[in-house]
Amino acid sequence: MPPTPGLGDSRISLRVWRRRLDTEGVADDWRLAGQERFLAGRPLEWAAWWEFRPGWDHDRCSFCWAEISDQPVGEHVSYNAAWVTADDNYHWVCPACFEDFADRFSWSIEGPAGSVL
Ligand SMILES: [Zn+2]
Repeated sequence: MPPTPGLGDSRISLRVWRRRLDTEGVADDWRLAGQERFLAGRPLEWAAWWEFRPGWDHDRCSFCWAEISDQPVGEHVSYNAAWVTADDNYHWVCPACFEDFADRFSWSIEGPAGSVL
């Protein structure tokens, strides 16, 4: 039987990749560009995108520049909801980048009292 490429293989490579990140740090991740300056240790909350600034029709993930908007998800818009800095509602982080960088950036999670996040 030839080896079957598939989920098993991708799991292994993901584990190797994560180990590399652990030992080398994630400084070589293409998404990182000094966001520590304004995002490290910030409180984040999960929110549906809204027009925080008048005339603004979208925001972008602070890491991967995925578009976050109230328009239908499709060719341009990646998310209708994402993590946003809770104290100024200014910096958005998409769910994928949140997962990847939560440890590194030590975000605190804010939400309505009693909500399960
Ligand atoms: Zn992102």
